[in-house]
Amino acid sequence: PDDQFESDPTKKNLVILGTGWGAVSLLKKLDTENYNVIVISPRNYFLFTPLLPSCTTGTVEHRSIMEPIRSITRHKKAAVKFYEAEATNIDPDRKIILIDDNSDIKGASSKTEVPYDMLVVSVGAENATFGIPGVKEHSCFLKEIGDAQNIRKRIMDCVETATFKDQSPEEVKRLLHMVVVGGGPTGVEFAGELQDFFDQDIKKWIPEISDKFKVTLIEALPNVLPMFSKQLIEYTESTFKEEKITIMTKTAVKKVTDTTVEAEVTAPDGKKTMTTMPYGLLVWATGNAVRPVVKDLMSKIPAQKDSRRGLAVNEYLVVQGTKDIWATGDCAVAGYAPTAQVASQEGAFLARLFNTMAKSEAIESQIYDLSSNLNVKAGDSAAVAKEIEAHERQLRRIKDIKPFHYTHQGSMAYIGSERAVADVSWLNGNFATGGGLTYLFWRSAYLSMCFSTRNRVLVVIDWLKSKTFGRDVSRE
Ligand code: FAD
Ligand code: NAD
Repeated sequence: PDDQFESDPTKKNLVILGTGWGAVSLLKKLDTENYNVIVISPRNYFLFTPLLPSCTTGTVEHRSIMEPIRSITRHKKAAVKFYEAEATNIDPDRKIILIDDNSDIKGASSKTEVPYDMLVVSVGAENATFGIPGVKEHSCFLKEIGDAQNIRKRIMDCVETATFKDQSPEEVKRLLHMVVVGGGPTGVEFAGELQDFFDQDIKKWIPEISDKFKVTLIEALPNVLPMFSKQLIEYTESTFKEEKITIMTKTAVKKVTDTTVEAEVTAPDGKKTMTTMPYGLLVWATGNAVRPVVKDLMSKIPAQKDSRRGLAVNEYLVVQGTKDIWATGDCAVAGYAPTAQVASQEGAFLARLFNTMAKSEAIESQIYDLSSNLNVKAGDSAAVAKEIEAHERQLRRIKDIKPFHYTHQGSMAYIGSERAVADVSWLNGNFATGGGLTYLFWRSAYLSMCFSTRNRVLVVIDWLKSKTFGRDVSRE
């Protein structure tokens, strides 16, 4: 029995897994008084991922892009329960989720079960490593706040270690070689931020390493940023050249050790050769993989047997092969790219769907009550029948929910030296733009997308602070 949670037995238990883009946009628009809403996530905050690359160098401080989930739930009309825990197992037959508090402090109760009537899986994805040896052990990833903090610490550790007394020239070269694997937007934005940090700050504070710091971006495909238009790919590649970031395309990393990256390079004539690059910092950004809890759920649903990249959903985001499980964002396969834009529109759609479902259930029960009345009080039957008809009309209107439709607003990426690229959908057309003005557009767009006014103010202060005083090079 759940003594802490006074759930209303007349309402359904709506369980939401995750506090990322999909879950939070659902929560924001959901009329919580219609359900017993329970949110479960190992992270008690929402993270504004578009500015995460800026946290790796201190352009933006990490707390400026976090919003406590409690600040979201406390403004809801009806109480929302939050459990800081990881969902480890979903049982679609018993309609139960196993949850595990894996934080440092555990109470006597740290593993338990939560029953659901309706479930939304919004747990995102984990980092893809493709089973490449050494990646898990030696790379830094860039998905969560802890990753950004770890990278920030290691950049300065490499720099300080490179300037250590009697360091050999080869070791200095290795330590100051920053390797980024994956030329998608995460890798490109991080490489740009890192080069900025070096050009604008590190170089000034530690001039003796000026000609030794080097950023290399490795991509298996023939070009970086494959989702952007050709013109912007070329603009990014030429900007990186100016910034002195080396791009190695058609280069697939095959093995990683604690000090080297081994990659297969395909020459223009198709010949393949292996190369070994010593590194000081390695950031691995090769996209998404399915989380174990999602994989396990997929294995329990026969209709999911052909799905590889996540939970296949229908046009109402219902997980195929189930009736009461929905999925949004990076863990769902709905035919869209795994982006924040898609996840947040999916979350908002589910909020509308659930609000409507609750409304129609309420009307259905009113119709039921009126129909019972009709049999009892024969005298007012005409008035009651009229009322029923009006309710039925309203019900038909409400039930006419259109399937989920994604509206693409465009893609943007920061590429360093105060330049950005953007493919924007505007007035039914597309336009591609890159440069300094696009950078201002990028900044204002991301600022407007920030979760709260508090986040917006903090981010602006961080931008001003790093511009005025330089980024902080202390290693904490
Ligand atoms: P997430 O936002 O990842 O949230 C998943 C949530 O589930 C988290 O709260 C997590 O703690 C929780 N969780 C994990 N495991 C469990 C579990 N077992 N049980 C319960 N909860 C769990 N997209 C854009 O559109 N524009 C951008 O500019 C952009 N920039 C990005 C920059 C970076 C560095 C990264 C990494 C991604 C970026 N993206 C961007 C992609 C975007 O962040 C994702 O597509 C988006 O976060 C997906 O939302 P989601 O809700 O599916 O997952
Ligand atoms: P991604 O999947 O977009 O890119 C990963 C890249 O790594 C691919 O180009 C792939 O070819 C390459 N790769 C894979 N294995 C490799 C190997 N062994 N060696 C070398 N290269 C290898 O991943 P991402 O950049 O992390 O982005 C994930 C999602 O988040 C995408 O949908 C993206 O659009 C979104 N995102 C968007 C933004 C933005 O809009 N600014 C920023 C970050 C992420």
